[in-house]
Amino acid sequence: MQDELIRLQQFLENNHSFLLMSHRAPDGDAVGSVAGFYHYLSASGKDAIVILPDPPSDVLLPFLKDVPVKYFNEESDQVDALMSNANALICLDFNASNRVGDLQGLLDSFKGQSVMIDHHPDPVKFTEIVITDPENSSTCQLIFECLEKINQVEHIDLKAAESLYLGIMTDTGSFRFPSVNANTHRILGSLMQKGIKHWMIHQQVFDNNRVEQLQLRGYAISEKLFLLNSGPNAIPFGYIALSQEELLRFNYKAGDTEGLVNVILSIEGIKAAVIVQEKRDGIKLSFRSKDNVYINEFAKKYFNGGGHKYAAGGSSSDSLSVTIERIVRLIPEIFS
Ligand code: 5GP
Ligand code: MN
Repeated sequence: MQDELIRLQQFLENNHSFLLMSHRAPDGDAVGSVAGFYHYLSASGKDAIVILPDPPSDVLLPFLKDVPVKYFNEESDQVDALMSNANALICLDFNASNRVGDLQGLLDSFKGQSVMIDHHPDPVKFTEIVITDPENSSTCQLIFECLEKINQVEHIDLKAAESLYLGIMTDTGSFRFPSVNANTHRILGSLMQKGIKHWMIHQQVFDNNRVEQLQLRGYAISEKLFLLNSGPNAIPFGYIALSQEELLRFNYKAGDTEGLVNVILSIEGIKAAVIVQEKRDGIKLSFRSKDNVYINEFAKKYFNGGGHKYAAGGSSSDSLSVTIERIVRLIPEIFS
């Protein structure tokens, strides 16, 4: 890691203009990473533009307010031109080029120098410089650690601090997952010393629900929750599956079911859960687990996905009912 940090330092010193990129369906850590790095670069007198495959949920948009962002799904020609002309690219919060969806072709053929900073397990080397720490709580925490080691903390301004706090907060379930340690809290302390109003960040993300969104969640929990934790072949597993029609009925928007899978995991005795959703672009799965039950290998083996031990995602090309049938049939193996 030391060598890679020296290379990162040189890369930052030797370039003036950067592209910053994160994964499709960007979450808080993805948005926090690109926004935080953008504000750090700005405060250091550098130029940067953020490229995202598609927009995040509405509650995350304010964190991109002062950031120049191009969305590939909206302005593909402009993104193509930016990628063709850039010399320096920083990829944040993803571990393989296929995590950027349709943007993968441009990423794979990028001709300049590139860096990855990420915390997902099993990284695939698609950049020249690779900084990876799968034990880390979040990419935002890892960015802070990297900048600290190359003596750049003074250039983390208020906006960068707010962004990095966002990513640490969302990727740790508000500082409660096993990945949180004393260093996480020390870094949060440093971010607070930059003057952030931490409660406003929590309110922005968690107290901005639309009524329809809460009604969708209520419906999902009361009508669509299935638990497999009773009967002769009981396993501590639960799932919710939502069809396209059901999502539309509640006027579904990106992010509306964020965190719903954790509600399943909060049920007493339940150690693993999945939410399956029939989105416009196919069936998406979001897995969570705890207590030494690991879910990422399962997501990888059966559902073209992956992720962390306790939080993973995937997709399915089968129908919703066939997908559910496969999950129920295969899931016992994670408990064996
Ligand atoms: P979420 O359930 O919040 O969408 O994703 C949970 C975790 O799994 C995130 O860390 C995310 O990066 C990872 N993940 C989600 N979908 C996929 C996927 O399709 N492939 C891989 N490799 N990881 C995924
Ligand atoms: Mn992350």
